Amino acid sequence: MTPTRPRIVLVGAGWAGFILSQELSDTQYDITIIAPHQTFAYTPLLASAATGLFFSRLAEEPIRRAHRKTTYYRAYATAADFSQQTVTCIPSILQADGSDVPDAEHPFTVEYDKLIIAPGCVNQTFNTPGADEHCFFLKTVPDAEAIKAKLLSILEIASLPTTSRERAQELLHIAVVGGGPTGVELSAELADLFDEISKTYPHLAGLPSITIHDVAPEILGAFHDKLKTHALQSFSKHGVEVKTSSHIEKIDSDGALYNLYTKEDGKKLCGMVAWATGNKQCDFVDSLRGVSKASRLGRLLTDQRLRVLKEDKTALLNVYALGDAADIFDKGLPTTAEVAVQKAEYLVKALNSPDKESAPFVYKQRRMVAYLGGTDGVIMGQQDWTGEAAWLAWRSGSLGWTRSWRRKAMIIASWGWNFIGGREIARR
Ligand SMILES: Cc1cc2nc3c(=O)[nH]c(=O)nc-3n(C[C@H](O)[C@H](O)[C@H](O)COP(=O)(O)OP(=O)(O)OC[C@H]3O[C@@H](n4cnc5c(N)ncnc54)[C@H](O)[C@@H]3O)c2cc1C
Repeated sequence: MTPTRPRIVLVGAGWAGFILSQELSDTQYDITIIAPHQTFAYTPLLASAATGLFFSRLAEEPIRRAHRKTTYYRAYATAADFSQQTVTCIPSILQADGSDVPDAEHPFTVEYDKLIIAPGCVNQTFNTPGADEHCFFLKTVPDAEAIKAKLLSILEIASLPTTSRERAQELLHIAVVGGGPTGVELSAELADLFDEISKTYPHLAGLPSITIHDVAPEILGAFHDKLKTHALQSFSKHGVEVKTSSHIEKIDSDGALYNLYTKEDGKKLCGMVAWATGNKQCDFVDSLRGVSKASRLGRLLTDQRLRVLKEDKTALLNVYALGDAADIFDKGLPTTAEVAVQKAEYLVKALNSPDKESAPFVYKQRRMVAYLGGTDGVIMGQQDWTGEAAWLAWRSGSLGWTRSWRRKAMIIASWGWNFIGGREIARR
């Protein structure tokens, strides 16, 4: 059947792809979304979900929506042919335990008139031996669920009559690798969790500990020096140890415990290693040929109208890229949801009004916030803030990220419930 409307194929349904999937005109375009998970994750809320501040389902939004005329394939894009205007995909099969298995035996091809590439990035472990097998990551809702299940598991093993106090202490030691905003916020939420569950696990009081390891000489590298110092002081008050210039050599497992080896301190036993050290490109972006890529991170390069650039730096017809997988030539924008959202909103406007010549995209830098635990945080913007003001900004920011009123109301209700009844992680 000949399509009557131009076909848009969207690769990825994260911050960039999800907004496009919901806001591109489904009367003007025939929209197909290709993404391996059926929901979009509100990434800034994942650390809270992983530590039981609210249920994980509040940190995700389904891609399929009633009253939206779009097609969704639960699949990975594996290759694109820009001359034939096709994308090759393989199904992502949902398993009963919630995991996904790529089905390379049954590839299929989707044709496009316009292709939008937004598959984000994957975790970067710098080929550290054992990191992929033994570490816990925080990029998706299943990742947050896995962290929560692991925390519950070590708390329960530590509570058994057969577990010595010394072993319980080792089990309840959490190593967080990466002192950027994700590692810092996860550590802060873990510190809050251990503080709050002393009511449900009073016998474990004083045993949990958290250490942040970063290879850099400081944490929160993108923040002003005054804020970095504040973060260090705040963590030392909350009992989070910070080891900078710490080089992870390998991770292996010894039953319920993990061995974390650093160049500086040798072997340290812990109950969980959370890895949050940055990004690299997914195989799909790596596979694309004949296009310009940034030397750092291998991101696709686009012009200021988000059109992918060929190797000779002219724009490829009808192919756009945005989010963490792309950068504007010569701009060096950060890999953040802020950038992904602003670019997605720009592209929605441009494609929904094809007759209007769109102005080039300009990124508006917003303030950066990091939560530090308790009622503390740091904000870097026109003015720097620390303490309760930053904590309030982080809390209201958590609400600002969610794009549905129902989710906002449920998150507020969860905060209220935790305030009265205390945080717990036993319930799914
Ligand atoms: C824990 C955490 C907290 C964060 N907090 C903040 C914050 O507070 N503020 C901020 O600005 N930024 C934050 N970020 C960064 C932000 O989440 C990313 O910059 C943002 O998600 C990038 O959007 P994206 O659409 O490019 O990619 P993503 O949101 O990662 O989405 C990528 C999508 O592509 C899909 N996909 C992957 N491979 C394929 C493939 N081969 N084929 C098809 N689909 C594919 C994925 O399943 C997903 O749907 C945080 C990140 C994390 C991990």
